Amino acid sequence: MKEQLLNKSAAINTPLADGCTRRIALFGSTGSIGRQALEVIAGNSSLFSVEVLTAYNNEELLIEQALRFNPNIVVIGDEKKYQKVKEALSATEIKVFAGEKALEEVASMDCYDLMLAAIVGYAGLRPVLRAIGNGKSVALANKETLVVAGDIIMRKAVENRVPVIPVDSEHSAIFQCLVGEMRNKIEKIILTASGGPFLGRKPNYLVNVKREHALQHPNWNMGAKITIDSATLMNKGLEMIEARWLFNLNPEQIQVVIHPQSIIHSMVQFEDGSIKAQMGLPDMKLPIQYALAFPRRIPNTFPRYDFKKYNTLTFEEPDLRTFRNLGLAMDALNKGGNLPAVMNAANEIAVYAFLRNRVNFLDMTDVIEKTMHKVSFIPSPTLEEYFESDGMARNYAADLIKL
Ligand code: NAD
Ligand code: MG
Repeated sequence: MKEQLLNKSAAINTPLADGCTRRIALFGSTGSIGRQALEVIAGNSSLFSVEVLTAYNNEELLIEQALRFNPNIVVIGDEKKYQKVKEALSATEIKVFAGEKALEEVASMDCYDLMLAAIVGYAGLRPVLRAIGNGKSVALANKETLVVAGDIIMRKAVENRVPVIPVDSEHSAIFQCLVGEMRNKIEKIILTASGGPFLGRKPNYLVNVKREHALQHPNWNMGAKITIDSATLMNKGLEMIEARWLFNLNPEQIQVVIHPQSIIHSMVQFEDGSIKAQMGLPDMKLPIQYALAFPRRIPNTFPRYDFKKYNTLTFEEPDLRTFRNLGLAMDALNKGGNLPAVMNAANEIAVYAFLRNRVNFLDMTDVIEKTMHKVSFIPSPTLEEYFESDGMARNYAADLIKL
């Protein structure tokens, strides 16, 4: 699969040659990734054009982005916001659609070359499936898509000769380390984790952690859901599963190391013991830019890492006894089947409840664990069965919390 992935990457529909722009469909344009992607695009307007912008309910920002980037199409997920967006853009040629189905339909259109999948959570899965079915390259930030149905997504990508280029910084690092290594076997990959805001803390501290505190990440400024996932280490668990499918690895080839400075974004160890790392200051614009422009590297003026200024890089084992979500994700990774999809759904519900002060920090783990035990295990699910497992897990987790 690694070979196929990298070979197929050459097949991105529009090469980034001079005078030829790559047409981007930005799904989730109002989020943290979406906004940073627009900064990258604005700085490289001869290379990229914006064809599609989508958002769920931040209509003010979506309208502002549409007026600035003049896409062909915008989609607002929340149908109640349709009239407002339509009216605000009535003096333009921009087509406006609304609703979940419209997201899928637009993903199936021919007006773009590359989808940047930056919707958060399970909601991003169906548009990605449509893009791949439509033969469109995908720059994937939405890791939950691969956690839920990674086997099916990657199989369809290979069948349709569609490159899936990671945006997640760790996976972008691994992808970059693999360029030029097509024939060489990976011994293992080492995913680095910052450890989040509660690194070194124990359960007696975590039990009292509140939403505002958990939303303060030391190194990255991200959307609310992934910030909570980073504080519980669930994010690293999701990333292990994401890596398993992106790079066709066995679970035992994936190791997690805590690296609080977030300078090494991840590493690949080959069969001869040699380790390649990709490094830089923590800034998501770099992996976003790499995925949008792949296989080219384009110049920028982002701040550079200075070895003399920050001269200590440290590494330690994750504390699985305190951060039990990571252990649950490792179970899901090892057992496979529908368990990662079930875990992901329960986690989405638990994080939603935590962000609304409905459960405490450690309760999130209990909700996920109970849901993983409750929903029947399916070893090789169909796509329909993945959808059903997601629904069952959501309902069960919501009942547990009495949402
Ligand atoms: P965010 O919450 O800031 O933005 C999410 C975007 O998705 C918004 O545009 C929102 O309108 C849209 N959206 C939300 N729910 C939707 C729904 N039901 N239907 C349609 N659209 C919906 O999230 P983010 O931090 O930008 O993260 C996006 C994805 O990228 C996540 O999967 C996350 O794990 C991944 N990621 C993010 C970062 C980061 O630095 N933010 C880093 C690595 C990976
Ligand atoms: Mg990451």
